[in-house]
Amino acid sequence: MDNKMVYFMLVVHTEPPLAATGKSLPGIIKISHSHKMPVTWVVTQDVALNFGNPNCELSKAYGFSLKDLCAGAYDVSGIKDEVGAHLHPCTHLGTKYGELKNCTSNIDNYAINRLPEEEQYKLMEELTNTIQEYVDIRPKTFVAGRWAESADGTTLRILEKLGYTVDINLPFFKPVGKSDWTGARYYQPYHPNRQNVLRLGDSPVLLIPQTVLPPKISMSPKSLILTDDKVLWPSVQNKDQMQTVFERYYKLKEMWSPVTMVIYMHSPDGVRKDILQRLDWLLSYVSSKENVVFVTPQEYAQIFNRKHGDKNPEKVYLIPAYTAFLAKIFRSFWIRASNIYHILKGSK
Ligand SMILES: [Zn+2]
Repeated sequence: MDNKMVYFMLVVHTEPPLAATGKSLPGIIKISHSHKMPVTWVVTQDVALNFGNPNCELSKAYGFSLKDLCAGAYDVSGIKDEVGAHLHPCTHLGTKYGELKNCTSNIDNYAINRLPEEEQYKLMEELTNTIQEYVDIRPKTFVAGRWAESADGTTLRILEKLGYTVDINLPFFKPVGKSDWTGARYYQPYHPNRQNVLRLGDSPVLLIPQTVLPPKISMSPKSLILTDDKVLWPSVQNKDQMQTVFERYYKLKEMWSPVTMVIYMHSPDGVRKDILQRLDWLLSYVSSKENVVFVTPQEYAQIFNRKHGDKNPEKVYLIPAYTAFLAKIFRSFWIRASNIYHILKGSK
């Protein structure tokens, strides 16, 4: 029954500014639920504190709570959303990172992989407990802020300890560093290696890669985002491009199962009418296809594990050898050039 299906997820990075998030969510919910799409809200600590349950001040002010969304009690659709965890050290309360003012421009301040293991653990544990206390569910899906989990498995091992079962990531995104992503899987979820999340292993956590465009020669694959952000593309303004990517993944279902697609957006972006229109368009387009099911990451993980257990499926896609070769050359050149730049800068 799982054969030749595509499982489609919408993951919303739910984070400050809180007022924008409060205004934005009802619009995202309305459109998603009208297409029977359960939304996956991965939330920061301050979002859990302020929107966790119907008694929170901001829940009252904006008319929704994460607890109601998970229980299917928000609207008549009865759709049950999922709440997971999203960690940005700079928005975490009660830590020195909360004082960082430039965290929107300084990528380091976003990145938990810059922190030693004990500090990562402390933040992750507090975040998890806050969600449990306020939303009344134990989160099992995690997305690192800026996808900056430790490539060496530090974050993964913490996830295991705290009972997480799904980690959505873009394992080759920049903050993960000078990692060699050429062997990584970006079309298929996998159980990663505890010492290197880019490689296959036997972690019980399922790593679900963000849906990406095929990689260019020089750089990492680009993820699909619902925004007109200048940094990541494509914007869904370009519907042809969106369709091309969708069709590519859609075809994969002839080669392996269960295929998944993960689209993401940031919570404050839902205040924008054009973005909501694109979301609406995308969900209608995808709904019109046969053999596509809208799911949450936890639902997907169950389907995946029913089929593969804790084993990893055979890889269905390799980037062509010449692409991998050129990427390696370019990368080592780039690392060398930036080292020389830093040496020159330091000697001044
Ligand atoms: Zn974020």
